[in-house]
Amino acid sequence: MNTATIIDGKARAAELREQIAHAVSAFAMEVGRAPGLAVILVGEDPASQIYVRSKGRATAEAGMVSFEHRLDVTVSQVELLKLIETLNVDNRVDGILVQLPLPQHIDEDAVISCIDPSKDVDGFHVMNAGLLMVGKPGLVPCTPLGCLLLLKQHLGDLSGLEAVVIGRSNIVGKPMAQLLLAESCTVTIAHSRTRDLADVVRRADIIIAAAGRAEIVKSSWIKPGATVIDVGINRVTGESGKAKIVGDVEATAIEVASALTPVPGGVGPMTIAMLLRNALTAACARAGLPEIPLLARSDQTS
Ligand code: NDP
Repeated sequence: MNTATIIDGKARAAELREQIAHAVSAFAMEVGRAPGLAVILVGEDPASQIYVRSKGRATAEAGMVSFEHRLDVTVSQVELLKLIETLNVDNRVDGILVQLPLPQHIDEDAVISCIDPSKDVDGFHVMNAGLLMVGKPGLVPCTPLGCLLLLKQHLGDLSGLEAVVIGRSNIVGKPMAQLLLAESCTVTIAHSRTRDLADVVRRADIIIAAAGRAEIVKSSWIKPGATVIDVGINRVTGESGKAKIVGDVEATAIEVASALTPVPGGVGPMTIAMLLRNALTAACARAGLPEIPLLARSDQTS
């Protein structure tokens, strides 16, 4: 029976975080201060609180300064924008991240547009989305960037491969497709209106599953030997009645694929490593320093 190679995102992320920490101390020696990352959390959404806590911990472990701003769920949009404007001009702050989702009374687009694009470590600002689209350097969303690094580490040259991205969000699907296109893949983007998802998936050498639907991708759809990157994080109730986390890809995919990322322990840890990478990239650019090389040559995105 085939058993796919497990792409160990956790180990790869740990390696990257160590490299980033070294680059951060080189930055601090040169500039006289460590890079600073500001994280804004509005409200008390439990999942967001966990994400913010682990981002803060990772920032400190990398030797960066973490500025945490926890705002009440009733904060007005005007107050939130004011805080972002203050952080935009604060020289100690190189990166600004607003944890999503925001409460309904706040316009997410207005908030993202308010962030100085040079500090937009999530890469969600339209300026950074546009730079990615036209193939110019900018800040790239963390999750797709992490997926690309895992793919390149496993496959090397991606040129000419058929890639299917399931999901078209601005956070994962669309930037992922752009990155794969820049690597000269033939890219198909599937979404909830795709007529025959099975048929689309069957032709893929690379499958990026980012629909947020538990095990929607069946192992019978997967071309033998394909590489599968499972971005999905879905909370389900297991057979024992206990809650567990599963991805968007059926567990039996391990019998068909050549390699796949586990959930958890695949893409998630890479997202945090890429956030640190983006914060360092932003800090270097703001300090007028060339980006401190921290990725292996085969990891470079262009
Ligand atoms: P969104 O809900 O914003 O987007 C989901 C996308 O999937 C949409 O484009 C939607 O299509 C598509 N979709 C939904 N159902 C189907 C279906 N049945 N068939 C095909 N496509 C479908 O989610 P995100 O992009 O933010 O996140 C996707 C998943 O990745 C989630 O599980 C999320 O938790 C996870 N995630 C994981 C991260 C990590 O670090 N591991 C980071 C970010 C996200 P349509 O546009 O037509 O509605």
